[in-house]
Amino acid sequence: MEQVSAARKAMSMEQRQQLASFWNGPLQWDVAMGAHCTLRAGGPAEALLVASTLPELCRLIGWLEGQAIRWRVIGRGSNILVGSQGFAGVLITLGGEFCDIRRGGSGSAQPGMETVRVGAGCFAGKLVGWCARNGLAGLEFMAGIPGSIGGAVSMNAGAWGGEIGALVEAVTFVDRHGQVHEMARQELAISYRRLRPLDSELCGAVVVEAALALKQGDPQEILDRCRDLIARRRAKQPSGVASAGSFFKNPPGDSAGRLIEAAGLKGLQRGGALVSTKHANFIVNTGSATAADITELMREVQDRVYRFSGILLEPEVHLL
Ligand SMILES: Cc1cc2nc3c(=O)[nH]c(=O)nc-3n(C[C@H](O)[C@H](O)[C@H](O)COP(=O)(O)OP(=O)(O)OC[C@H]3O[C@@H](n4cnc5c(N)ncnc54)[C@H](O)[C@@H]3O)c2cc1C
Repeated sequence: MEQVSAARKAMSMEQRQQLASFWNGPLQWDVAMGAHCTLRAGGPAEALLVASTLPELCRLIGWLEGQAIRWRVIGRGSNILVGSQGFAGVLITLGGEFCDIRRGGSGSAQPGMETVRVGAGCFAGKLVGWCARNGLAGLEFMAGIPGSIGGAVSMNAGAWGGEIGALVEAVTFVDRHGQVHEMARQELAISYRRLRPLDSELCGAVVVEAALALKQGDPQEILDRCRDLIARRRAKQPSGVASAGSFFKNPPGDSAGRLIEAAGLKGLQRGGALVSTKHANFIVNTGSATAADITELMREVQDRVYRFSGILLEPEVHLL
């Protein structure tokens, strides 16, 4: 695991003291991010904190922007890699009231449909289970996708032909001035592994809540579909190893896994990072991989796939 001392320090001692004095929630300094990412590798973040309420999140963002401190909201770390040099700034996760799930609110309320409002900090798996128990169908494709709803919405996570963006009625964001905006579906740009407000002024805004349109259904049937998809996932993908799921996006009309396998790269290894022999689009940490091993392997795969097929694979994993 990378050393904390390798980090660039973005905050002055005075800024650290100010943050420590006004922040009442959990706050850690110089945090090795391998412990907070499913790839189990990554350099240190200067500060990692948990925001539990909307007012404290808005105030924090306003302060960070005012101090020109680099910051970013992350979810459960299942699709990020912090480089070995570390993240010079503040990483924010969402807990407390951001984990709530509630029925109703504004929404389409079409016959047979229900709107569920879910906080961005909620585990995706918790929402999938809650929907099954409450007889609400539509999210089964998410069964087995780790991470938070904020991560899933901003990544437009998907599987088996479904995408969370297709269910979104509205998303509530906090912008860089700490202002809250609820954007209806038609105000959003939704594309492959990306969901953003159309208004470019809101670029980089934080997802704090999503309203999803779900269909009433039979709880047992929903549960059975979830179980079936989890079993199919286990059969196809490496399990019990550290990864970030599919490492590269699928290029239009093709699959990254097929291209990597066709280029003969299954089993390619750099340090402790390995191209899975079970699913070529998974880069796995065999135990001792550093972020540098993973990025070196990523570049080698990109290079060799490009030479083999003329296609440049774009990482799905966000490199911080
Ligand atoms: C074993 C495995 C299987 C996977 N299978 C799939 C799959 O089938 N389909 C799929 O799409 N993905 C899959 N993934 C990837 C990942 O689980 C999803 O992309 C997930 O939705 C990311 O959520 P997270 O909370 O972990 O986000 P993080 O990894 O923490 O963050 C991802 C990005 O979202 C941003 N972000 C997070 N929260 C917010 C927020 N509240 N507001 C604004 N931006 C935010 C972060 O800054 C970062 O840029 C898989 C991962 C693993 C490890």
